[in-house]
Amino acid sequence: MTTSPDLIEGASAPSETSVPSATLGGESKRSIEQLALLLFITVPFVALLAAVPLAWGWGVSWLDLGLMVFMYFLACHGITIGFHRYFTHGSFKAKRPLRIVLAVMGSMAVEGPLVRWVADHRKHHKFSDHEGDPHSPWRFGETVPALMKGLWWAHIGWLFDEEQTDQQKYAPDLIKDPAIRRISRDFIWWTIFSLAVPPLVGGLVTMSWWGAFTAFFWGSLVRVALLHHVTWSINSICHAVGKRPFKSRDRSGNVWWLAVLSCGESWHNLHHADPTSARHGVLRGQVDSSARLIRWFEQLGWATDVRWPSAARIDARRRENGSNAA
Ligand SMILES: [Zn+2]
Ligand SMILES: [Zn+2]
Repeated sequence: MTTSPDLIEGASAPSETSVPSATLGGESKRSIEQLALLLFITVPFVALLAAVPLAWGWGVSWLDLGLMVFMYFLACHGITIGFHRYFTHGSFKAKRPLRIVLAVMGSMAVEGPLVRWVADHRKHHKFSDHEGDPHSPWRFGETVPALMKGLWWAHIGWLFDEEQTDQQKYAPDLIKDPAIRRISRDFIWWTIFSLAVPPLVGGLVTMSWWGAFTAFFWGSLVRVALLHHVTWSINSICHAVGKRPFKSRDRSGNVWWLAVLSCGESWHNLHHADPTSARHGVLRGQVDSSARLIRWFEQLGWATDVRWPSAARIDARRRENGSNAA
């Protein structure tokens, strides 16, 4: 089995039987799939957490962890508010200084130049989980090995694909802006800047090379790796599992346990159901720090025309039959 009818027909056939399953394949394979997926997701994180107590007092300090958390959320919101909700989807209008700052903050995540990121992501929405999607985990089919291969592809493999998204076609609005073009072209310098800040602070605060080194390890390397892993998890995990309370023509799901680390982006089912919405976590209790910050920007007058989802708009996108398998 390579594709199911619901992959092709998508939202055009929203009857009970054709709604794509959000679980990984049939019931009989369920436990193996869940285990494989769990290992795939958790092993790198567990390894990372195990490293902290091992290195405590010798190779990691509160300053290192503080730098890691600060730089993580700075760059994460640069991606989620800047690259994603603002530049890709236009979910609000930004005053010029905010536009520039968001472009720089997002570039500090080291996820590639702004214009390429936006072009890839717009293409992802155009073809989501169908032929042409740059990073669907369903690319190789629905069997367990195919999905494992697909998860790897959606997570990291696609980044090495030689086929590049046509930037003129998918991001002409950004290419038109000289400042944005420049920030995008200078990606390598933003990378160096992003990696240099933690060791600079760590070295100056402790007045030691060792302090600079541990700050570089945690605040630069681990922070970038963790954010990469979380961002890519939106492409892989949030297109394979999760609750699906909203209508979308793909397999995007809401994954609650990624909400804080992903700055609110793991409410991915709502995002595909209503891509221009400034808020992704629209239901009660759904943490969305990016939406919170956009609200503050709006109150400060830095952001205008914010596309906040109304209750009627949210209700109109609900799946009638309540299919929301976890
Ligand atoms: Zn998606
Ligand atoms: Zn999007």
